[in-house]
Amino acid sequence: MKILTVDDSSTMRRIIKNTLNRLGYTDVLEAEHGVDGLAKMTGVELVLTDWNMPEMDGLTFVKALRSNPRFKDVPIIMVTTEAAKKEILEAIKSGVTDYIVKPFTPETLKEKIQKVLGG
Ligand SMILES: [Mg+2]
Repeated sequence: MKILTVDDSSTMRRIIKNTLNRLGYTDVLEAEHGVDGLAKMTGVELVLTDWNMPEMDGLTFVKALRSNPRFKDVPIIMVTTEAAKKEILEAIKSGVTDYIVKPFTPETLKEKIQKVLGG
């Protein structure tokens, strides 16, 4: 299964990628921001995206995916430090399937992925 992780922090992308690898997901693509992410969506079955990024932030990226018939049903997990209830509600309203608050444990990531994939 192809997974796209979108984050402007290369350290965070590496952490997410390594965690996914350990969970058995080895086909992981990386993007630095929403514009980069949109260009790499072909065949992607799960998106993990940061909120705060240059060029195109995570919320705008999510809205762009949801307004595109090709990507409107792809599960999206927002991985963010924006833990306030208002922000979380805004993310859900914009089409995020679920969210994870940083910092997170590998177990949390695993549970969220299984939840959004219905496993
Ligand atoms: Mg960021």
